[in-house]
Amino acid sequence: MKRLNPYSGLVGGLSAGKLELLSAAVEERRLREEIGVGTLAEAADRYRPRPACSACGEASPWRDGREPSGVRRWRCPSCGARFTSLTGTVLENCKKPLSTWVSFIRLALFAVPLDACAEACRITHQTAWKWRHRLFAAVDGYQDRIVLRGTVWVDETYINDTDLSRGYGQARKRGLSRQKVCIAVGIDSRKEPVAVACGHGKPSSGRIMEAMGGSCGEGGAPRARQVIKSI
Ligand SMILES: [Zn+2]
Repeated sequence: MKRLNPYSGLVGGLSAGKLELLSAAVEERRLREEIGVGTLAEAADRYRPRPACSACGEASPWRDGREPSGVRRWRCPSCGARFTSLTGTVLENCKKPLSTWVSFIRLALFAVPLDACAEACRITHQTAWKWRHRLFAAVDGYQDRIVLRGTVWVDETYINDTDLSRGYGQARKRGLSRQKVCIAVGIDSRKEPVAVACGHGKPSSGRIMEAMGGSCGEGGAPRARQVIKSI
């Protein structure tokens, strides 16, 4: 027999405001167990315990209290700038709880459309748009320092091109049409991954090699996709 949830009765009697506080506390606890931090303030203290001045780079700013959210504030002894531990990060001026950001990132990893992300995270389209741009800016250039070595396995995936000049909104063609952008993904034996845009439609092996070549170090050579189809 299914056991009754002993908390159902307690939750049923809570006001809307108290229920919101309770669900926020539950979310914080869940996040703490999943990613080690439950709030913006905890994330700031963990990952930016002593940030440099966001204006001049001074390495030893003074502590200047905390925001109502608990995020630490700083003041620069050199230029007088005031900033918080989250200034210059994707979480700067974030008014939503950390759990909303984590959900947003998880959805973005599955390439969920922006409006669907906004709906699922209960944020406006404008906020979702701003967050996605911040996310892209944060990861931009991340793979530039990755150098693939030794044998590199390559596979491709395809996404629809949303560039208006390329016929966005036109009837979608089935299969691998020229409307799709090819993303070549390479991985080496150390499991370092690199993804590069590889033009429209199905690319030749040569085009993949050329696109991937810049990420390969000495002795690194992508193997033809005909040899290894999947990674
Ligand atoms: Zn400064």
